[in-house]
Amino acid sequence: MNARNIILGIDGIPFELMDSLSDKGVMPNFKELKSNFYFKEMKSSIPHISSVSWSSIITGKNPGEHGIFGFSELIEGTYSLSYPNFNALKCKPFWHQQNENKHVIINVPATYPAKILNGVHIAGFVALDLEKAVYPKTCIPSLKQLNYVIDIDSSLAHKQSKDILFDELMKVLDIRKNTYQFFWNKLNWLNFMVVITSSDRFGHFLWNTYANSDNKWHSRAVQFFQKIDDFIGDIKDKLKENDNFIILSDHGMEEIKQNMNLNTYLEHEGFLKLSDKYKNYNRIAKGTKAFVLDPGRIYLNKEGKYPNGSVFKSEEKEIIADLKNILYDLKYQNQKVIRKVHEKNEIYNGVNIDKAPDLVVLENSGFRPKGSIGKESIFEEDNLSGMHNDSAFLFINKKINIQKPNVQDVIGFLGGN
Ligand SMILES: [Zn+2]
Repeated sequence: MNARNIILGIDGIPFELMDSLSDKGVMPNFKELKSNFYFKEMKSSIPHISSVSWSSIITGKNPGEHGIFGFSELIEGTYSLSYPNFNALKCKPFWHQQNENKHVIINVPATYPAKILNGVHIAGFVALDLEKAVYPKTCIPSLKQLNYVIDIDSSLAHKQSKDILFDELMKVLDIRKNTYQFFWNKLNWLNFMVVITSSDRFGHFLWNTYANSDNKWHSRAVQFFQKIDDFIGDIKDKLKENDNFIILSDHGMEEIKQNMNLNTYLEHEGFLKLSDKYKNYNRIAKGTKAFVLDPGRIYLNKEGKYPNGSVFKSEEKEIIADLKNILYDLKYQNQKVIRKVHEKNEIYNGVNIDKAPDLVVLENSGFRPKGSIGKESIFEEDNLSGMHNDSAFLFINKKINIQKPNVQDVIGFLGGN
Protein backbone atom coordinates (compact mmCIF):
# COMPACT_ATOMS: atom_id res chain seq x y z
CA MET A 1 0.00 0.00 0.00
CA ASN A 2 1.16 3.52 -0.77
CA ALA A 3 2.26 5.77 2.04
CA ARG A 4 -0.21 8.55 2.73
CA ASN A 5 0.90 12.19 2.68
CA ILE A 6 -0.37 14.76 5.13
CA ILE A 7 0.71 18.36 4.53
CA LEU A 8 -0.04 21.05 7.08
CA GLY A 9 0.74 24.55 5.83
CA ILE A 10 1.19 27.39 8.31
CA ASP A 11 1.21 30.51 6.16
CA GLY A 12 3.74 33.21 7.00
CA ILE A 13 5.57 31.62 9.94
CA PRO A 14 9.37 32.05 9.77
CA PHE A 15 11.79 29.26 10.62
CA GLU A 16 13.27 31.11 13.57
CA LEU A 17 9.87 31.66 15.22
CA MET A 18 8.80 28.02 14.82
CA ASP A 19 12.14 26.97 16.27
CA SER A 20 11.98 29.30 19.27
CA LEU A 21 8.29 28.70 20.04
CA SER A 22 8.95 24.99 20.33
CA ASP A 23 12.11 25.51 22.41
CA LYS A 24 10.26 27.82 24.78
CA GLY A 25 7.56 25.23 25.46
CA VAL A 26 4.78 27.06 23.62
CA MET A 27 4.63 24.27 21.02
CA PRO A 28 5.31 20.96 22.79
CA ASN A 29 3.89 18.82 19.98
CA PHE A 30 6.09 20.45 17.42
CA LYS A 31 9.06 20.24 19.79
CA GLU A 32 8.68 16.48 19.93
CA LEU A 33 8.44 16.23 16.15
CA LYS A 34 11.37 18.49 15.34
CA SER A 35 13.58 16.74 17.88
CA ASN A 36 13.11 13.40 16.16
CA PHE A 37 13.00 14.32 12.49
CA TYR A 38 13.94 16.79 9.76
CA PHE A 39 13.41 20.50 10.43
CA LYS A 40 15.18 23.19 8.39
CA GLU A 41 14.91 26.71 7.15
CA MET A 42 13.41 26.72 3.64
CA LYS A 43 13.91 29.41 0.98
CA SER A 44 10.67 31.00 -0.09
CA SER A 45 9.87 31.90 -3.69
CA ILE A 46 10.97 35.15 -5.35
CA PRO A 47 9.08 37.32 -4.63
CA HIS A 48 8.25 35.85 -1.22
CA ILE A 49 4.48 36.10 -1.33
CA SER A 50 1.83 33.45 -0.82
CA SER A 51 0.42 33.09 -4.32
CA VAL A 52 3.87 32.56 -5.84
CA SER A 53 5.21 30.36 -3.08
CA TRP A 54 2.22 28.03 -2.73
CA SER A 55 2.10 27.70 -6.53
CA SER A 56 5.70 26.47 -6.41
CA ILE A 57 5.01 24.16 -3.45
CA ILE A 58 2.05 22.39 -5.08
CA THR A 59 3.58 22.10 -8.56
CA GLY A 60 7.29 21.72 -7.75
CA LYS A 61 8.07 24.36 -10.40
CA ASN A 62 9.54 27.85 -10.47
CA PRO A 63 7.46 30.87 -11.58
CA GLY A 64 9.09 30.80 -15.05
CA GLU A 65 7.25 27.51 -15.52
CA HIS A 66 4.05 27.86 -13.47
CA GLY A 67 3.50 31.46 -14.58
CA ILE A 68 2.49 33.03 -11.24
CA PHE A 69 4.81 35.95 -10.45
CA GLY A 70 2.61 37.92 -8.05
CA PHE A 71 -0.92 38.75 -6.91
CA SER A 72 -1.34 41.16 -9.78
CA GLU A 73 -0.36 41.38 -13.45
CA LEU A 74 -1.04 43.79 -16.26
CA ILE A 75 -3.45 42.54 -18.89
CA GLU A 76 -1.43 41.94 -22.05
CA GLY A 77 -0.98 45.05 -24.16
CA THR A 78 -2.47 47.34 -21.48
CA TYR A 79 -1.66 49.02 -18.18
CA SER A 80 -4.80 47.59 -16.57
CA LEU A 81 -4.39 45.32 -13.58
CA SER A 82 -5.64 41.76 -13.40
CA TYR A 83 -5.42 39.27 -10.55
CA PRO A 84 -4.33 35.86 -11.78
CA ASN A 85 -6.14 32.97 -10.10
CA PHE A 86 -5.90 29.16 -10.24
CA ASN A 87 -6.84 29.23 -13.93
CA ALA A 88 -3.62 31.13 -14.65
CA LEU A 89 -1.44 28.39 -13.12
CA LYS A 90 0.35 26.77 -16.06
CA CYS A 91 1.51 23.56 -14.31
CA LYS A 92 -0.54 20.89 -12.61
CA PRO A 93 -0.67 20.77 -8.82
CA PHE A 94 0.17 17.34 -7.39
CA TRP A 95 -3.50 16.45 -7.00
CA HIS A 96 -4.04 16.74 -10.74
CA GLN A 97 -0.93 14.68 -11.46
CA GLN A 98 -2.38 11.49 -9.99
CA ASN A 99 -6.05 10.93 -10.60
CA GLU A 100 -6.12 7.33 -9.44
CA ASN A 101 -5.81 8.44 -5.80
CA LYS A 102 -8.09 10.53 -3.64
CA HIS A 103 -7.07 13.95 -2.33
CA VAL A 104 -8.42 16.34 0.28
CA ILE A 105 -7.17 19.89 -0.30
CA ILE A 106 -8.29 22.60 2.14
CA ASN A 107 -7.51 26.32 2.06
CA VAL A 108 -4.43 26.34 -0.16
CA PRO A 109 -3.99 29.99 -1.26
CA ALA A 110 -4.22 30.81 -4.97
CA THR A 111 -6.25 27.70 -5.85
CA TYR A 112 -9.53 29.49 -6.65
CA PRO A 113 -11.75 28.61 -8.44
CA ALA A 114 -11.77 24.95 -7.44
CA LYS A 115 -11.47 22.47 -10.30
CA ILE A 116 -12.58 18.88 -10.71
CA LEU A 117 -10.35 16.39 -8.90
CA ASN A 118 -10.60 12.93 -7.42
CA GLY A 119 -11.57 14.05 -3.93
CA VAL A 120 -12.44 17.32 -2.22
CA HIS A 121 -11.01 20.79 -2.84
CA ILE A 122 -11.87 23.90 -0.82
CA ALA A 123 -9.86 26.80 -2.27
CA GLY A 124 -8.10 29.35 -0.05
CA PHE A 125 -7.81 33.12 -0.43
CA VAL A 126 -8.30 34.98 -2.69
CA ALA A 127 -11.54 33.01 -3.07
CA LEU A 128 -14.42 35.32 -3.80
CA ASP A 129 -17.38 32.99 -3.57
CA LEU A 130 -17.71 29.78 -1.53
CA GLU A 131 -19.83 28.18 -4.26
CA LYS A 132 -16.93 28.40 -6.73
CA ALA A 133 -14.32 27.62 -4.10
CA VAL A 134 -15.60 24.10 -3.46
CA TYR A 135 -15.50 20.87 -5.43
CA PRO A 136 -17.71 18.88 -5.35
CA LYS A 137 -20.58 21.23 -4.59
CA THR A 138 -22.27 18.49 -2.56
CA CYS A 139 -19.84 19.44 0.25
CA ILE A 140 -21.25 22.95 0.57
CA PRO A 141 -24.10 22.12 3.01
CA SER A 142 -21.60 20.38 5.34
CA LEU A 143 -19.28 23.38 5.14
CA LYS A 144 -22.15 25.70 5.97
CA GLN A 145 -22.88 23.58 9.02
CA LEU A 146 -19.26 23.97 10.04
CA ASN A 147 -19.68 27.78 9.64
CA TYR A 148 -16.85 27.57 7.13
CA VAL A 149 -15.17 30.83 6.10
CA ILE A 150 -12.38 31.38 3.60
CA ASP A 151 -10.59 34.05 5.59
CA ILE A 152 -10.79 36.16 8.72
CA ASP A 153 -12.76 39.39 8.68
CA SER A 154 -9.78 41.74 8.22
CA SER A 155 -11.87 44.83 8.96
CA LEU A 156 -11.63 43.79 12.62
CA ALA A 157 -7.93 44.66 12.47
CA HIS A 158 -8.86 48.32 12.68
CA LYS A 159 -10.73 48.00 15.97
CA GLN A 160 -9.13 49.60 19.00
CA SER A 161 -9.06 46.39 21.03
CA LYS A 162 -6.80 43.67 19.66
CA ASP A 163 -8.90 41.15 21.60
CA ILE A 164 -11.55 41.28 18.90
CA LEU A 165 -9.01 40.36 16.22
CA PHE A 166 -7.51 37.60 18.37
CA ASP A 167 -11.04 36.20 18.92
CA GLU A 168 -11.52 36.16 15.15
CA LEU A 169 -8.17 34.45 14.49
CA MET A 170 -8.96 31.78 17.08
CA LYS A 171 -12.46 31.25 15.70
CA VAL A 172 -11.23 30.79 12.13
CA LEU A 173 -8.47 28.46 13.30
CA ASP A 174 -11.12 26.34 15.05
CA ILE A 175 -13.23 26.27 11.90
CA ARG A 176 -10.22 25.11 9.86
CA LYS A 177 -9.50 22.38 12.42
CA ASN A 178 -13.13 21.21 12.55
CA THR A 179 -13.17 21.09 8.76
CA TYR A 180 -10.03 18.99 8.47
CA GLN A 181 -11.41 16.61 11.12
CA PHE A 182 -14.69 16.34 9.24
CA PHE A 183 -12.98 15.24 6.00
CA TRP A 184 -10.26 13.09 7.58
CA ASN A 185 -12.43 9.98 7.86
CA LYS A 186 -14.88 10.80 5.07
CA LEU A 187 -12.65 9.71 2.21
CA ASN A 188 -10.04 7.06 1.70
CA TRP A 189 -7.44 9.63 0.61
CA LEU A 190 -3.77 9.34 -0.26
CA ASN A 191 -2.96 13.07 0.00
CA PHE A 192 -4.41 15.40 2.61
CA MET A 193 -3.37 19.05 2.58
CA VAL A 194 -4.70 21.80 4.83
CA VAL A 195 -3.31 25.33 5.20
CA ILE A 196 -3.72 27.64 8.18
CA THR A 197 -3.77 31.25 6.95
CA SER A 198 -4.73 32.94 10.26
CA SER A 199 -1.00 32.78 11.01
CA ASP A 200 -0.19 35.15 8.13
CA ARG A 201 -2.93 37.56 9.23
CA PHE A 202 -1.52 37.38 12.76
CA GLY A 203 1.86 38.35 11.31
CA HIS A 204 0.62 41.35 9.36
CA PHE A 205 -1.63 42.80 12.04
CA LEU A 206 -0.24 41.57 15.35
CA TRP A 207 3.46 40.73 14.89
CA ASN A 208 4.47 43.18 17.63
CA THR A 209 2.18 41.49 20.19
CA TYR A 210 4.43 38.45 20.21
CA ALA A 211 7.76 40.07 19.29
CA ASN A 212 7.48 42.44 22.24
CA SER A 213 6.95 40.50 25.48
CA ASP A 214 5.75 43.64 27.30
CA ASN A 215 2.91 44.05 24.85
CA LYS A 216 -0.54 44.09 26.43
CA TRP A 217 -1.69 41.24 24.19
CA HIS A 218 1.44 39.11 24.40
CA SER A 219 -0.27 36.30 26.30
CA ARG A 220 -2.97 36.12 23.64
CA ALA A 221 -0.29 35.76 20.98
CA VAL A 222 1.16 32.86 22.97
CA GLN A 223 -2.32 31.28 23.19
CA PHE A 224 -2.68 31.62 19.44
CA PHE A 225 0.53 29.66 18.85
CA GLN A 226 -0.51 27.06 21.43
CA LYS A 227 -3.67 26.58 19.43
CA ILE A 228 -1.64 26.00 16.27
CA ASP A 229 0.40 23.45 18.19
CA ASP A 230 -2.83 21.71 19.30
CA PHE A 231 -3.72 21.44 15.60
CA ILE A 232 -0.31 19.84 14.93
CA GLY A 233 -0.81 17.47 17.88
CA ASP A 234 -4.26 16.51 16.67
CA ILE A 235 -2.84 15.40 13.32
CA LYS A 236 0.17 13.73 14.97
CA ASP A 237 -2.16 11.54 17.06
CA LYS A 238 -4.04 10.41 13.97
CA LEU A 239 -0.99 9.31 11.97
CA LYS A 240 -0.52 5.72 10.86
CA GLU A 241 2.87 4.09 10.86
CA ASN A 242 3.96 4.83 7.28
CA ASP A 243 2.34 8.22 6.88
CA ASN A 244 4.48 11.10 5.61
CA PHE A 245 3.77 14.20 7.67
CA ILE A 246 5.02 17.50 6.26
CA ILE A 247 4.61 20.84 8.06
CA LEU A 248 5.76 23.95 6.27
CA SER A 249 5.34 27.64 5.72
CA ASP A 250 5.40 29.50 2.41
CA HIS A 251 7.40 32.51 3.59
CA GLY A 252 8.50 34.11 6.82
CA MET A 253 7.56 37.33 8.61
CA GLU A 254 9.37 40.16 10.33
CA GLU A 255 8.71 43.57 11.80
CA ILE A 256 7.94 46.26 9.26
CA LYS A 257 9.94 49.48 9.52
CA GLN A 258 9.08 51.45 6.40
CA ASN A 259 7.25 51.01 3.12
CA MET A 260 9.30 51.82 0.04
CA ASN A 261 7.30 53.30 -2.82
CA LEU A 262 9.64 52.22 -5.58
CA ASN A 263 7.60 53.87 -8.34
CA THR A 264 8.05 57.21 -6.57
CA TYR A 265 11.78 56.58 -6.51
CA LEU A 266 11.81 55.71 -10.23
CA GLU A 267 9.87 58.91 -10.88
CA HIS A 268 12.44 60.98 -8.93
CA GLU A 269 15.25 59.35 -10.88
CA GLY A 270 13.58 60.02 -14.25
CA PHE A 271 12.67 56.44 -15.16
CA LEU A 272 8.92 56.86 -14.72
CA LYS A 273 6.69 59.56 -16.23
CA LEU A 274 3.09 59.85 -15.07
CA SER A 275 0.22 61.66 -16.71
CA ASP A 276 -2.63 63.09 -14.63
CA LYS A 277 -5.24 61.96 -17.09
CA TYR A 278 -5.95 58.42 -15.98
CA LYS A 279 -5.81 56.25 -12.90
CA ASN A 280 -3.35 53.79 -11.45
CA TYR A 281 -0.93 52.18 -13.97
CA ASN A 282 -2.80 53.78 -16.85
CA ARG A 283 -1.02 56.97 -15.80
CA ILE A 284 2.23 55.57 -17.25
CA ALA A 285 3.19 58.01 -20.02
CA LYS A 286 5.50 58.00 -23.05
CA GLY A 287 9.10 58.35 -22.00
CA THR A 288 8.72 55.89 -19.09
CA LYS A 289 11.63 53.46 -18.97
CA ALA A 290 10.45 51.23 -16.10
CA PHE A 291 7.70 50.73 -13.53
CA VAL A 292 7.07 48.54 -10.50
CA LEU A 293 4.32 46.10 -9.59
CA ASP A 294 3.90 44.81 -6.03
CA PRO A 295 5.96 43.86 -4.17
CA GLY A 296 9.27 44.66 -5.93
CA ARG A 297 8.77 43.52 -9.53
CA ILE A 298 10.30 45.90 -12.05
CA TYR A 299 9.22 45.88 -15.70
CA LEU A 300 10.88 47.69 -18.57
CA ASN A 301 8.30 49.72 -20.46
CA LYS A 302 9.07 47.96 -23.72
CA GLU A 303 8.14 49.33 -27.09
CA GLY A 304 5.61 47.01 -28.74
CA LYS A 305 4.64 45.41 -25.42
CA TYR A 306 2.85 48.33 -23.73
CA PRO A 307 0.68 51.13 -25.16
CA ASN A 308 3.21 53.83 -24.23
CA GLY A 309 6.23 51.55 -24.56
CA SER A 310 9.41 53.61 -24.71
CA VAL A 311 12.26 51.13 -24.36
CA PHE A 312 13.86 49.72 -27.51
CA LYS A 313 15.57 46.34 -27.50
CA SER A 314 18.97 47.97 -28.08
CA GLU A 315 18.61 50.04 -24.88
CA GLU A 316 17.49 47.29 -22.53
CA LYS A 317 20.89 46.25 -21.21
CA GLU A 318 21.94 49.76 -20.38
CA ILE A 319 18.66 50.62 -18.66
CA ILE A 320 18.86 47.48 -16.56
CA ALA A 321 22.37 48.41 -15.47
CA ASP A 322 21.25 51.97 -14.63
CA LEU A 323 18.27 50.67 -12.67
CA LYS A 324 20.45 48.33 -10.66
CA ASN A 325 22.79 51.19 -9.80
CA ILE A 326 20.10 53.52 -8.54
CA LEU A 327 18.31 50.75 -6.63
CA TYR A 328 21.47 49.72 -4.78
CA ASP A 329 21.98 53.42 -3.98
CA LEU A 330 18.62 53.84 -2.29
CA LYS A 331 19.04 54.64 1.41
CA TYR A 332 16.87 55.34 4.40
CA GLN A 333 18.67 57.37 7.08
CA ASN A 334 21.99 56.33 5.62
CA GLN A 335 21.07 52.68 5.59
CA LYS A 336 20.92 50.72 2.35
CA VAL A 337 17.46 49.29 1.92
CA ILE A 338 17.89 46.96 -1.05
CA ARG A 339 19.80 43.75 -0.51
CA LYS A 340 19.66 42.28 -4.00
CA VAL A 341 18.37 43.14 -7.44
CA HIS A 342 17.90 39.99 -9.48
CA GLU A 343 17.67 39.89 -13.27
CA LYS A 344 14.98 37.50 -14.40
CA ASN A 345 17.37 35.03 -16.01
CA GLU A 346 19.18 34.55 -12.71
CA ILE A 347 16.08 33.39 -10.86
CA TYR A 348 13.57 32.04 -13.36
CA ASN A 349 13.56 29.54 -16.18
CA GLY A 350 10.82 27.99 -18.26
CA VAL A 351 8.38 28.65 -21.05
CA ASN A 352 6.62 31.52 -19.24
CA ILE A 353 9.71 33.58 -18.55
CA ASP A 354 8.49 36.19 -21.06
CA LYS A 355 5.86 37.18 -18.52
CA ALA A 356 8.43 37.57 -15.75
CA PRO A 357 9.46 40.96 -14.38
CA ASP A 358 12.80 42.12 -15.80
CA LEU A 359 14.17 42.72 -12.30
CA VAL A 360 13.06 41.66 -8.83
CA VAL A 361 14.13 43.62 -5.77
CA LEU A 362 14.87 41.86 -2.49
CA GLU A 363 14.81 44.18 0.47
CA ASN A 364 16.86 44.57 3.58
CA SER A 365 15.06 43.62 6.77
CA GLY A 366 12.06 45.80 7.59
CA PHE A 367 11.78 47.70 4.30
CA ARG A 368 8.74 46.60 2.39
CA PRO A 369 8.85 47.20 -1.38
CA LYS A 370 5.59 48.43 -2.86
CA GLY A 371 4.32 49.18 -6.35
CA SER A 372 1.84 51.96 -5.54
CA ILE A 373 1.60 54.63 -8.21
CA GLY A 374 1.70 58.37 -7.59
CA LYS A 375 2.66 58.38 -3.91
CA GLU A 376 4.30 61.55 -2.66
CA SER A 377 7.15 60.11 -0.62
CA ILE A 378 9.47 57.21 -1.26
CA PHE A 379 9.39 56.06 2.36
CA GLU A 380 6.33 55.96 4.55
CA GLU A 381 5.09 54.37 7.72
CA ASP A 382 2.63 51.52 7.48
CA ASN A 383 -0.11 50.72 9.96
CA LEU A 384 0.66 47.03 9.57
CA SER A 385 2.95 45.37 12.06
CA GLY A 386 4.64 42.60 10.05
CA MET A 387 5.89 42.02 6.51
CA HIS A 388 7.02 38.93 4.65
CA ASN A 389 10.59 37.70 4.43
CA ASP A 390 12.08 34.72 2.60
CA SER A 391 12.76 32.51 5.61
CA ALA A 392 10.13 29.75 5.48
CA PHE A 393 10.48 26.39 7.25
CA LEU A 394 10.12 22.72 6.36
CA PHE A 395 9.47 19.79 8.67
CA ILE A 396 9.21 16.16 7.49
CA ASN A 397 8.79 13.14 9.73
CA LYS A 398 11.74 11.43 8.09
CA LYS A 399 15.47 11.49 8.45
CA ILE A 400 16.74 13.16 5.32
CA ASN A 401 19.85 15.13 4.59
CA ILE A 402 19.07 18.22 2.55
CA GLN A 403 20.75 21.34 3.82
CA LYS A 404 19.01 24.12 1.93
CA PRO A 405 15.53 23.15 0.81
CA ASN A 406 13.53 25.38 -1.48
CA VAL A 407 9.75 25.61 -1.92
CA GLN A 408 10.05 23.77 -5.25
CA ASP A 409 11.57 20.73 -3.52
CA VAL A 410 8.56 19.91 -1.34
CA ILE A 411 6.66 17.88 -3.92
CA GLY A 412 9.66 15.54 -4.17
CA PHE A 413 9.16 14.51 -0.54
CA LEU A 414 5.68 13.15 -1.10
CA GLY A 415 5.68 9.39 -0.86
CA GLY A 416 3.58 6.99 -2.87
CA ASN A 417 3.79 8.90 -6.17
ZN1 LIG B 1 0.90 37.73 4.01
